[in-house]
Amino acid sequence: MSFDARSIIAQVREGHAPSGAAMAWFAQGLADHTVSDAQAAAFAMAVCLQGLPFDSRVDLTRAMRDSGPVLHWDLDGPVLDKHSTGGVGDCVSLVLAPLLASAGVFVPMISGRGLGHTGGTLDKLQAIPGLSVQVEKPQFDRLLKEVGCAIVSAGAALAPADKRLYAIRDVTSTVDSLDLITASILSKKLAAGLDGLILDVKCGSGAFMKTPDQARVLGQSLVRTAGQAGCNTIALISDMNQPLAPALGNALELVEVMQVLCEGKAGRLRELTLQLGGELLCANRLFKSFEAAQEDLANRRFLPEAPVIREIYAAREGYITAWDSEALGLSVVQLGGGRQVESDIIDPSVGLSDVLPIGSKVIAGMPVARVHANRVGLADKIGETVRNALSMGEIALPAAPLVLERVG
Ligand code: URA
Repeated sequence: MSFDARSIIAQVREGHAPSGAAMAWFAQGLADHTVSDAQAAAFAMAVCLQGLPFDSRVDLTRAMRDSGPVLHWDLDGPVLDKHSTGGVGDCVSLVLAPLLASAGVFVPMISGRGLGHTGGTLDKLQAIPGLSVQVEKPQFDRLLKEVGCAIVSAGAALAPADKRLYAIRDVTSTVDSLDLITASILSKKLAAGLDGLILDVKCGSGAFMKTPDQARVLGQSLVRTAGQAGCNTIALISDMNQPLAPALGNALELVEVMQVLCEGKAGRLRELTLQLGGELLCANRLFKSFEAAQEDLANRRFLPEAPVIREIYAAREGYITAWDSEALGLSVVQLGGGRQVESDIIDPSVGLSDVLPIGSKVIAGMPVARVHANRVGLADKIGETVRNALSMGEIALPAAPLVLERVG
């Protein structure tokens, strides 16, 4: 069967539904430029004004997905992703992708740049000097297999019909269409070969959708369309009437991300990340309940932690006058944090923390250091070593200057 752009545009303009094959032809024409800019703009305006029947919206989504390569993965676990419709201080992706990866999920996150007032995940990542977000498929495969998640730029290859149509919509006042937004967002996500997707549809003063009603309509369109196109998808509508993280700006948001990931910093960013992750894991049957999934994610840690932590207390009031630093270093070796013989395997979780500096005033029972150990007996033994390494006096002696002299 042969198609031509003019009659497909006319069908849409008259409120008729072009066939799936006609949509596939049009999307291919967008990708290979057999459809002209004028025809693409006329199509976008016809869709904007007339709307598409639901089945045609699904057909357009599938057609734009298939206008370039669709990725396939041969991985030992589910391939899942999250997409946000865009907000302020929204750095959920950077927290959620590694969290999901640590739970055994593979996350091939193809992300975008900031749009208008909303920040883009790639821009945030590139606050790290020298970091590249452009990777070829073999490197994408390797990263996903080895790390479990990769956040990369789409490049020109995936869903090229959307890339072209979006650029034309942007300059022809045709961005604002439920059909076109749905097909545009989903074509890129579905081309990533996902088993499941969660959408974070933002709503409020910092979102594109200002009211819950608008956000719900978009959420329903995305969920139904993705489901029809074969990807198990759910959406949360989340508040965007205030920034999600307390910091806005690329490097500043990265600091927030590190604090949530490494220190479990509480707040709206962590809370929403856990809700999205819990829903995604539960919907894809990786946990029996949302609560179990959320608890699992909440307890994940990215650096090993020792099972036993002992506080070492000052025996009396006074000032810390000296530490036997060699004894402290050797106590870490004894805990398993260093090698006694070459063949020893290091336990990275053990050691000492919160060691008070010389000159500190302490009272009896105040912690002067913490021992992190992998068993109780060893924690007690090293606790004694740390206590013996501490010297106290009645008066504060000045500590040695940090830099003693300059040579040369
Ligand atoms: N984001 C997209 O990727 N496409 C749209 O049309 C709107 C937002």
